[in-house]
Amino acid sequence: MESKIKGSCHCGSVQFELKNDQKLVVNCHCDECKKRNGSAFSTYIAVSENDLNLTEGEHSLIQYEVENEGIKYFCSECGSPIYNKNYRFPGLYMVFYGAFSQAVNFKPSFNVFCENKQNWVDTIKNITSFQGAIER
Ligand SMILES: [Zn+2]
Ligand SMILES: [Zn+2]
Repeated sequence: MESKIKGSCHCGSVQFELKNDQKLVVNCHCDECKKRNGSAFSTYIAVSENDLNLTEGEHSLIQYEVENEGIKYFCSECGSPIYNKNYRFPGLYMVFYGAFSQAVNFKPSFNVFCENKQNWVDTIKNITSFQGAIER
């Protein structure tokens, strides 16, 4: 049987599964992704459109289109981003790393748009770190 990995939005309305084989994982540091996702950089898993199977919540998955660039798909209930379609890469979906519901071994092999990378990203391991939350 083919191995699958599962993912979802935060509220669980949108569920998907993906073939669990080698995928290309990319960190994007561009300013567009920062603004659209509210994060310092975004990690995406590039998959063939045919490999991503939406198993629940098609009606909850809504789109935000950026003209000439692509479409962001996210949950209308909880706002979690699920995947992007980038017009420069037809046939692919860029699935948001955080959307996976189980541990995955996918590791980024590329950083792109490093010209816009925050200068603290490379030294993040050097700052004071805790295993859980900071105690009050
Ligand atoms: Zn949701
Ligand atoms: Zn980007």
